[in-house]
Amino acid sequence: MKAAVKYERRKGAVKIFDLEEPKIGPSEVLVRIKSAAVCGSDLHAYEFLPGYQTPEETKIPVTLGHEWSGIIADVGANVSRFRPGDRIMGESVLYCGECRLCLQGRTNICERFLLTGRHIDGAMAEYFKVDSKYLHRIPDGLSFEEAATAQPLSVSLHAVVDNCVIAPGDIVLVFGPGVIGLGAAQVARMLGASTVIVVGLERDEKARLPLAKDLGFFPLASGSDLAQELMRLTGRAKADVVIECSGDSRNIARGLGLVARGGRMTIVGISADPASVFYTPIVRNEIQIHTTFNGTWNNYDQALRLMAEKKINMKSLISQHELTEVVRVFDAALECEMVKPVLCP
Ligand SMILES: [Zn+2]
Ligand SMILES: [Zn+2]
Repeated sequence: MKAAVKYERRKGAVKIFDLEEPKIGPSEVLVRIKSAAVCGSDLHAYEFLPGYQTPEETKIPVTLGHEWSGIIADVGANVSRFRPGDRIMGESVLYCGECRLCLQGRTNICERFLLTGRHIDGAMAEYFKVDSKYLHRIPDGLSFEEAATAQPLSVSLHAVVDNCVIAPGDIVLVFGPGVIGLGAAQVARMLGASTVIVVGLERDEKARLPLAKDLGFFPLASGSDLAQELMRLTGRAKADVVIECSGDSRNIARGLGLVARGGRMTIVGISADPASVFYTPIVRNEIQIHTTFNGTWNNYDQALRLMAEKKINMKSLISQHELTEVVRVFDAALECEMVKPVLCP
């Protein structure tokens, strides 16, 4: 079978290999992959720069891809909930289910988690195997491409629903018009935010900021005077909530400076660089800071239902490509020419 493999510990070093189909164990299912979306972390693996998640942890060679959907081709002897032919997608983080955090339901920060496509072979391949406990059924009417994006949408939902407070009428500013940011902006609006502003870089003006505008948000270039733009758009120079999804460490101090007294900031993006913050005004203004990572079973369930009910639109973010185009697609994604490329093996 064809698979997109990171084959050496250096920049680049991704190509299509012809591998054997995986052999399943008693609790696993074999999946015929229909869609495998490209994530920023696949691009980090492609570029192989230090700082994000230690590259040393990456199993090499490894089949990339952790945002996937497909059809069950075969089930192990102990699998009773699923059958061949079922349309499913799966969680990206394989949590242990037994550590202190898993037992609290916080499987997204399991102490012993394995990440698909990093610690174990991923889903940018014709076939993929996974334990059935990580599966979710795809609702009728939802495409495989959209279902694969339930993974990043689960991250946006966990950030905004579980690790932020949005009150009706709030002014919300989101840094980063990527998939997580555009998902977070949509969730914030769904929870009642009045004005949602999405801030991007110059390179985001190609595809991502226009898309933010199409989705009904106010797009702003990060070079502009954001306080002044906030004043122009809302009559107030500060936002009730700032959600940092860009992974640019400079946006931590900048974002905190744009939170109104008594407001909230949630940090989703990760960076290879440290951030420096003068925190006295943050304390005196009683600004709440939350961090958020991955998503839980419930966030996947929310993501699939909200897309199926057309309450959240991921479809407009997606472009479809052949699996064999993987390197060209990675290069184009690094140039921000695409918002959410999805590979179809
Ligand atoms: Zn991802
Ligand atoms: Zn665990």
